[in-house]
Amino acid sequence: MSAALIDGKAFAEGLRAKVGVRAAAFEAQAGRKAGLAVVLVGEDPASEVYVRNKGKQTVAAGMESFEHKLPADTGEAELLALVERLNADRSVDGILVQLPLPAHLDEQKVIATISPDKDVDGFHVINAGRLAVGLPGFVPCTPLGCLMLLKDRLGDLSGKNAVVIGRSNIVGKPMAQLLLAESCTVTIAHSRTRDLPEVVRRADIVVAAVGRPEMVKGDWIKPGAVVIDVGINRVPGAEEGKTRLVGDVDFASASAVAGAITPVPGGVGPMTIAVLLRNTLVAAHRNEGLELPADAI
Ligand code: NAD
Repeated sequence: MSAALIDGKAFAEGLRAKVGVRAAAFEAQAGRKAGLAVVLVGEDPASEVYVRNKGKQTVAAGMESFEHKLPADTGEAELLALVERLNADRSVDGILVQLPLPAHLDEQKVIATISPDKDVDGFHVINAGRLAVGLPGFVPCTPLGCLMLLKDRLGDLSGKNAVVIGRSNIVGKPMAQLLLAESCTVTIAHSRTRDLPEVVRRADIVVAAVGRPEMVKGDWIKPGAVVIDVGINRVPGAEEGKTRLVGDVDFASASAVAGAITPVPGGVGPMTIAVLLRNTLVAAHRNEGLELPADAI
């Protein structure tokens, strides 16, 4: 392996510590803690783990966590009424509805009901629009975390060729917008892209957000490129009945060529919740009309 390892776990710990310091200062100024409400509908085991971790880390950062667990057969009207109540609740600065929702619920309708000022996931069309036109708003946590890792590694990204593989609203599209705002030359590749290896070979920065285990091979990577692997895929492990996590990048071959690379686990994954806490603190300051210096967190 010649690539430097990008330690997202350590970076996320540092970010959470900074959020903690600022959260204490916020509490002293506002006379209350910043608050994050998380809504979980149904009993998806992976979602339950995420929600539990979010709750724990919110409290550890000195913020209030409000968890709302609803049964899988919750009706749309009931869910929307809860979101409206959270919109009106002054102790709640950020609202996150854990996705995916059960099939009978319309995700876009639920997201559209969240106040854009409390949309700390950055999924509301108003926040997607703000990102597209360069206005301040909330940016989805995972791509913002990827950008933080890239800037930490590379400094100025201006003029770099960036290839984002994947065009989801949650990762690929906002990632491309963020890189464009940093003056990268951005290519968005997706399932219909022709000759993906050749497209990726032009990239100084590769962000893989596909959901296909170890798809991106070392011989697709330009020597010295920085590779950010967003993928989280569970595959059969070496031992019978055990599984292990791998990314969308074939780490063994890519790390022999890349200049720097995120591991899976321990790369992008830990950044998502840390950025969620950061976004919640930003929301709290805005909701109280308090200043938070742009470079504070
Ligand atoms: P998605 O399924 O919504 O989107 C996948 C994208 O990949 C699509 O736009 C599709 O066009 C593209 N794609 C599919 N097959 C392709 C192919 N053969 N070649 C090129 N492009 C192809 O997924 P998502 O929500 O964007 O998530 C992507 C991955 O990132 C998943 O593994 C997911 O688990 C992971 N993820 C991780 C975090 C985190 O916190 N680290 C957060 C969100 C998602």
